[in-house]
Amino acid sequence: MGLQTFSLEGKVALVTGAASVRGIGRTIALAFADAGADVAVCDLNVKGSDYDIEDTADEIRKLGRRALSLQADVTDRTSVTSLFERVVQELGTVDILVNNAGICGYKPFLEDNNDHWDKMMAVNLKGCFLCSQAAAKIMIERKKGSIVNIASISGMRAISTQFIYGISKSGVIQLTKELGLELAPHNIRANAVAPGLIDTNIPNHKVEGSINAPNKEGFFKRAVERIPLGRIGKPSDIANVALFLASDASAFVTGQTIVADGGVTVTL
Ligand code: NAD
Repeated sequence: MGLQTFSLEGKVALVTGAASVRGIGRTIALAFADAGADVAVCDLNVKGSDYDIEDTADEIRKLGRRALSLQADVTDRTSVTSLFERVVQELGTVDILVNNAGICGYKPFLEDNNDHWDKMMAVNLKGCFLCSQAAAKIMIERKKGSIVNIASISGMRAISTQFIYGISKSGVIQLTKELGLELAPHNIRANAVAPGLIDTNIPNHKVEGSINAPNKEGFFKRAVERIPLGRIGKPSDIANVALFLASDASAFVTGQTIVADGGVTVTL
């Protein structure tokens, strides 16, 4: 009962897509470390102007936890297999998986090509599937575990500028339900967070060939007017929900998607 149930003391977490310096994944990794977990972080892009996986790992260590940083592509089964092998080798197990890696981007429906569709589905949906499967194989042996998927409110409504992205994220919401059902007999829970608009660098990380993201300042100004709580979200707004879902505080919650969007979807 109480705050203690939010503790991740003694647990090992793996967070995908955690190199982005202003990203949700990095913030989740640090929140989990702060709550007591040892944390492995991975990303396709480990170092660059927007990325630094080693820095994420260093910040975890500063919180007194063990950290492991790895380069991995969540769309590739071989890469995912060796990712999980390394985490088990170095940190002993995986108690918590956060499927955070994601990309966005937009092309008008009639101009979209397979390439765009394939890339978005591969990272946002297949990546979740491959990592969840690898994690579940480890968790089943231990008869416990928690999987947290990062979906999006774009997966709950149609927005023309989020066409394929929205479809991939609705797949994540459905995958979460299926995982919740499939893994419940093994005492493994699977849930998702569906963020609204969060201030990160994701518009810079869109699929090659996407049309340009709208002017960020003007876009945010217009977006705020539609957010009942009157502000754009912060990565910590999502990390706090992910912490609840990863911890025993949500022990009776599975297959669910929790919306964290400042109230945008209450009017849907
Ligand atoms: P971000 O671009 O800052 O972080 C995403 C990370 O995923 C990046 O570090 C990127 O390198 C990594 N990644 C991309 N392809 C990968 C691959 N194949 N293998 C491993 N890593 C890969 O974006 P963010 O805003 O922090 O997004 C995090 C998650 O939250 C995503 O799933 C995104 O769809 C979701 N989300 C974000 C928002 C928002 O407004 N920012 C809203 C809803 C949902």
